[in-house]
Amino acid sequence: MISALIEGVLAGETRSIARAISCVEERRTGAYELLDALYPHTGEAHVIGVTGAPGTGKSTLINQLARAYRRRGTRVGIIAVDPSSAFSGGALLGDRIRMRDATVDSGVFVRSMATRGAQGGLAGATIDAICILDAAGYAKVFVETIGVGQDEIDVARATHTTLVVEAPGLGDDIQAIKAGLTEIGDIYVVNKADRDGADQAVRALQMMLEGGILGSEPAETTGNTWRVPVCETNALEGTGIAGLVREIEAHRAHLQQHGGLEEKERLRAKTGLEALLREELMSRFVARLGPEEWENVISRVATRHMGPHEAIAHLLAR
Ligand code: GDP
Repeated sequence: MISALIEGVLAGETRSIARAISCVEERRTGAYELLDALYPHTGEAHVIGVTGAPGTGKSTLINQLARAYRRRGTRVGIIAVDPSSAFSGGALLGDRIRMRDATVDSGVFVRSMATRGAQGGLAGATIDAICILDAAGYAKVFVETIGVGQDEIDVARATHTTLVVEAPGLGDDIQAIKAGLTEIGDIYVVNKADRDGADQAVRALQMMLEGGILGSEPAETTGNTWRVPVCETNALEGTGIAGLVREIEAHRAHLQQHGGLEEKERLRAKTGLEALLREELMSRFVARLGPEEWENVISRVATRHMGPHEAIAHLLAR
């Protein structure tokens, strides 16, 4: 059954891809076998994170970008990460995804990832889904997040190019600053260019970039020489989209030329391995200790009969 699924994904069959993502999301039997079999077929996709406050127009923008890439014949995968769906049941996101049907043809695959059902955590499940779409031959994979929380920071580490989306009229401040998104943007986008205040927002962002208040995370070894651009778009009408596509492609080319791509791949591998190792060591440790003893220690710490550091020393000594 798993081998048929693997073949289906590699052949780019939509139904197999959807089933493969559910399989890894729920950590069903065969999920690891599936991921390891697909892994050698990955590494081709350009993974693009799109982050920003709700309502800035990320979904509409991704819709336009997908159309632009489809016109070039590029296959596009879209993953929407919805950390809130534990409460809303993913209904909100479901509506937004239905709104996207303008782009839905066989060259576009859309999927939402919810906390609900993701056994290995939201970030882990999202990173696995990126891997499946990569193996299935989607050359551009967009990952939409609202940019808050550790899960989303981990997801950002799994992308090559990050767009931070702003919109005028959602308050006076630059939302990225408020959300602490000052280091992850490779490209800033001021969407809703038709609204008052768009030009001011562009100028404010440019000033912050020049002043070093904003900027992309410096690369560990290669140094980061990318000049972060600010693009202005109107996602309703599609203006500014061609320019944004040019910047996305320029960033990819920049990574390729300056060795940033290998470095990002190392970072992606490291983040993924650390998460897996934690999960594996933890479950082995608890299995050896015995679940009752583990619960017992948790209770003693919770009732203040033992401090957490004392508990760890006690556990490791056994
Ligand atoms: P998201 O929550 O960031 O994904 O935002 P959506 O894509 O759902 O857009 C939020 C609202 O803004 C929707 O009503 C869109 O139609 C609208 N919108 C998106 N882009 C633009 C734009 O460029 N100009 C204007 N005026 N409205 C836009």
